[in-house]
Amino acid sequence: MNDRTIGSIASALVVGGGIGGMAAAISLAERGLSVTLIDLDPAWRVYGAGITITGPTLRAYRRLGLLEPIKAQGAITNVTRLFRYDGTHLHDLDEPVIEEGLPATGGIMRPVLHRIMQQRVRALAIPVRLGLTVTALANRADGVDVGFSDGGSARFDLVVGADSVASTVREIAFAHMAPAVPTGQGCWRISIARPPGLDAGEFYLGHADPCGITRCAPDSVYMWMLTRHVERDAFMGDAELFATLKALLADFGGNAGWIRDHMTRENWINYRPLAAALQPAPWYHGRIVLLGDAVHATTPHLASGAGMAVESAIVLAEELERAPSVEAGLLAYQQRRFARCRDVIESSVAIGRLQLDHRPPEEHARLLEGALARLNQPF
Ligand SMILES: Cc1cc2nc3c(=O)[nH]c(=O)nc-3n(C[C@H](O)[C@H](O)[C@H](O)COP(=O)(O)OP(=O)(O)OC[C@H]3O[C@@H](n4cnc5c(N)ncnc54)[C@H](O)[C@@H]3O)c2cc1C
Repeated sequence: MNDRTIGSIASALVVGGGIGGMAAAISLAERGLSVTLIDLDPAWRVYGAGITITGPTLRAYRRLGLLEPIKAQGAITNVTRLFRYDGTHLHDLDEPVIEEGLPATGGIMRPVLHRIMQQRVRALAIPVRLGLTVTALANRADGVDVGFSDGGSARFDLVVGADSVASTVREIAFAHMAPAVPTGQGCWRISIARPPGLDAGEFYLGHADPCGITRCAPDSVYMWMLTRHVERDAFMGDAELFATLKALLADFGGNAGWIRDHMTRENWINYRPLAAALQPAPWYHGRIVLLGDAVHATTPHLASGAGMAVESAIVLAEELERAPSVEAGLLAYQQRRFARCRDVIESSVAIGRLQLDHRPPEEHARLLEGALARLNQPF
């Protein structure tokens, strides 16, 4: 356990041990705070999809000191190729290296990324309590009284809500916020062996249901596909998920077609409806603060939700360390994050709308490239 303080904060509770929560716990513990991390899942698992790690996300992970294990255990690439859905090559995305020594983009399996972050949490001796959530949060002058779902209670100097899109912390402490709004699209994902010809990230556009492929390790990839949301899709069993995704890929060529022809029932397949929300300020209430999908939930169109969560965690710790008071630190955090998160959410939702309206792939590519270029700017 640590015993330093930043400002008047010596202890912090982080609610949610996902990407944003672990990044916050690591950033705060590295500055000497005594951090406790809780997660609702008794087994602290994550589902078996891959995840795209863009240049800005890699940059954020480098700040956390986790770039090397991600490079070693994931896959890095220096180009993303755009194709028409039938496999005709359109052009390559301009993906500059945004910092010396940083790969342009990459991917990793989510369970591998979680293990890398969990190892760092353990190495910092952060106590992790599982199968637990908060049931009550009461701001006091110099801390927060927390009630836990196991009947226990404790006081912390700071509470960080990183409990994702259906955040309990948000529900308890932020009456001015509302649940994320469905965007009308859903995302299909499959984890599968790497198509033999694939050497980069790939996007397949110009179809009502665009898709893309990200390499996650030397021999594995995941493919995503965005479709108009159909309520029934959210309740499919494994056999129906398999048959439906295979049928959705009927028109596709290139490596997307290869995946359709080689997918089996053994592959991990998932469908999830999409929702987004930029929650209105303030993002903090007393000494309770939100980050990640709890407050800036986006859709996967820019593959940047995880990157935004890690950046927010780093900025929160930096601003708390630098500010003269807790309130000034939380305000500075919100001010540094709000416009950047709004850009990601608005651009992602706008790209989704272009897809729903069947706009030409060039329009989609222009919006995507503009947003990615802005994201390359320092955070
Ligand atoms: C289909 C899809 C594809 C995506 N693809 C990408 C991508 O390629 N690249 C990218 O950067 N982003 C992607 N994202 C976004 C990214 O997954 C999220 O933005 C990111 O995981 C947010 O991190 P988080 O910490 O806020 O939430 P999470 O990572 O979801 O973690 C939340 C944690 O909180 C725990 N929890 C939940 N409720 C409670 C509670 N009440 N009490 C305690 N603990 C709780 C959960 O068990 C979980 O461990 C995608 C999202 C979707 C939906």
